[in-house]
Amino acid sequence: MTKVLDRPRPVLLLAFCLLAAAPSAQPVPASTNCPRTASGLYSRLRSLALDEHRVYHVRSAAIDRPNLHLVFDAGTLAFTEDVCGRITGAYFEGEGEVLLRPPNRAERASMDLFTGMAILEEQFSSAYLRFNDDTAATLAPFLSPVLDVGGFAKQWSDTSRSLSDSDALRFLLDFSHFLPTASGMEPAQPFPRLLLAHLQGAKLGAFEIFWDAAAPEPLWAGQIRTRDGIAFWDIWTSFTPGAPGGIGRSPESLAGDVSVGSFRIRASVQPPTTLRASAEVDLVVRKGSKRTLIFELSRFLKIDAVLMDGRRLDFIQNEAQEGTHVRRKGNDLVAVVFPALLETGQRLKLLFSYAGEVLSEAGSGLLYVGERGTWYPNFGLNPALFDLEFQYPANWTLVATGRPVPQTSVVAGPGLQVSRWVSDGPIPVAGFNLGKYIRAEAKADSVLVQAYGTAVVERSFPKAPAELIQPQPSFPGPRSPATAPMMVTPPPPSPARNAQAVADKAARAVTSFSQWFGPYPFGALALTQMPGDLSQGWPGLVFLSSYAFLSPQEQSELHLDPVMALLSNQVLVHETAHQWWGDLVLWDSYRDQWFVEGLANYSALLVLEQQNPVQFRQALEKYRTDLLGKNKDGEWLRNAGPVTLGQRLSSSHFPGGYEAISYERGTWLFHMLRCMLRDSEAASHSRNGPAHREEPFFRALRKVRQRYAGKNISSRELMKVFEEELPRALWFENRRSLDWFLDGWINGTAMPRLEAREVRFTQKESGWSVAGTITQKDAPDDLVTAIPVYGVTASNATVFLGMVLADGPDTSFHLNAPAGTHKILLDPRQTVLTTLK
Ligand SMILES: [Zn+2]
Repeated sequence: MTKVLDRPRPVLLLAFCLLAAAPSAQPVPASTNCPRTASGLYSRLRSLALDEHRVYHVRSAAIDRPNLHLVFDAGTLAFTEDVCGRITGAYFEGEGEVLLRPPNRAERASMDLFTGMAILEEQFSSAYLRFNDDTAATLAPFLSPVLDVGGFAKQWSDTSRSLSDSDALRFLLDFSHFLPTASGMEPAQPFPRLLLAHLQGAKLGAFEIFWDAAAPEPLWAGQIRTRDGIAFWDIWTSFTPGAPGGIGRSPESLAGDVSVGSFRIRASVQPPTTLRASAEVDLVVRKGSKRTLIFELSRFLKIDAVLMDGRRLDFIQNEAQEGTHVRRKGNDLVAVVFPALLETGQRLKLLFSYAGEVLSEAGSGLLYVGERGTWYPNFGLNPALFDLEFQYPANWTLVATGRPVPQTSVVAGPGLQVSRWVSDGPIPVAGFNLGKYIRAEAKADSVLVQAYGTAVVERSFPKAPAELIQPQPSFPGPRSPATAPMMVTPPPPSPARNAQAVADKAARAVTSFSQWFGPYPFGALALTQMPGDLSQGWPGLVFLSSYAFLSPQEQSELHLDPVMALLSNQVLVHETAHQWWGDLVLWDSYRDQWFVEGLANYSALLVLEQQNPVQFRQALEKYRTDLLGKNKDGEWLRNAGPVTLGQRLSSSHFPGGYEAISYERGTWLFHMLRCMLRDSEAASHSRNGPAHREEPFFRALRKVRQRYAGKNISSRELMKVFEEELPRALWFENRRSLDWFLDGWINGTAMPRLEAREVRFTQKESGWSVAGTITQKDAPDDLVTAIPVYGVTASNATVFLGMVLADGPDTSFHLNAPAGTHKILLDPRQTVLTTLK
């Protein structure tokens, strides 16, 4: 950490306690206030009372951070008890105001959706602040001490204690620097600057603002809001002040400071509920100066010990972490505290041992493997090598990510078996599934595709209704007795019976995707049944919903809605496409996650298009209709925001916003890219005769696969690859750039309405031409859209005339046309996501 955050300030009216609170670069003296163990420090950080000797009148004080301005006009303020000689919090009551300025249109629209204001300007009556810097000293000139005769500190200490609990883990990252080391005390480090404010707003109620330089996007604000009994963490805005457009990773972000090279996990699985494991994790410290690392691990798995070189390390695993900092991730974090500061380049080998109940039996021989992403300690998606070994009962089948290898280090106990799975290269995530499966196999060229289904569906699966059947008479003929119709209940579905169809379908998808995108990235593909309606595609291992194992007859017996049946038939192809998009090529930040969902989904639709172009259109039209919908309060789904808001799209306003926008609009964005590249390129090659070339869309995707295998890609980098394939007709303002598509369509929410006006047909010596104006309605003024324009000829044929880049509300155009052209059509093949009305 080179940047010094704590600057000395002029000290005028400082009381002694505040001088003590001002951070210094000097070694911190051993203080009775500085606990000597990680757990002691943690319990202190999470239970901070107010100090009755630090109660003040405050007048016209302010705290400023980039894009954030907090004013304390008048009131009473008490600081918290100090920790390791520092003041880290304050409680204020009185009149205050907050001003938060989002940096771009999408963030202002998001702020507006939740607060009714594009720029947050709100009076507050109380504030609870936490900080790790010189904020107490900054406030000091505006404070005058008072005797706390009214018991202000006592009155609000419980509030302070419970709110300090929410953020204690984040403070442990910094304050663990003060724990004793073998060589004595560590020098104080300048911490990445942190300010948290829990505010009670006059109009908006309770909300929170964070300014944390260690976070990928340092400034964010939001609120917990309950809707129909479900609590949502609504993120009003989140961004990086100072970055271009407010988008980009904070220079002090902790993400990537430590990376995992490999995992070696030895697990014992005891159906129906228990997992016991030891995980050896090899880490490389990319950027040193940390005492504490935070891992994700399911709250249901309790750690017995964390060892480094045979030595026990301190760790904090939260039984009930309700903190604002971790709320979005649930309670699944564990902090490991090291005996000394980590150094850049240092390699660590940690051994975690843990156990818990993360499995449940959903049906006979059908397990639900819960906590799939957090069954081993990890840092989220971080490609690493995995060596997994499982011990489990002999009558169960276990399938895991990686290649099965025969030799194992353990000998199976009586009635048990052991299997070992090793990844061929780094993969972002590893997991397993087990059940009493029947296996089916198919081949996609040299790739082995296996489907694993149990004989039953989960107990909670819907039952097919009984149907009226007219039995066939056993002796047909005029004299046979009339048989009464009978109510017959169809037999329950059997995934095992349909496993072969699943394997065959996935193998066909692998074949198509390999041709379009490049070779299948992993050794083999296993599709394993999972109870519930959710599916997930992991490297080489798909957790496939029982619904995706239904035969067409079983679907019709269940009376599934035809469009729902169509989409659920797409699931296994969608998950297969994730092998390329999401498992091999990874998204960069939450703002780029849409691309793996949109592209996996569009890949599945491309397979459907080959088999059934009508259904392909139906799926796209269903998405268009969904995107034009409203929630039950009459708010337009479009207003949830652009695909680049990622999981933030799911909020109290639009609980299913992420799925609707990132999957459905994301799919449309890829359809638009494909069609406009194809149509423009076809037009520019038409003079050289029909070109039997591969579509530019697929050429671009093959490049993405090649260049970003095992790497993260941002939406902007993705567009850069597509720009290489950009035909001249799509160069806006003479630049080979897709910035217009990124700004208006990916970072925007547009669904314009298109109209042609003042269309004139002219016959000249050189041929016919058509001119006119294209209007974009219901669209931002700077929206650029590539619109294919077709003409209707004298013989009523529809011919492509050219691509017009409509820029803003009105764009005049001029195109050559075949003789006799008398009418034009804008995008008649519906390749642009418009409102169509
Ligand atoms: Zn998906």
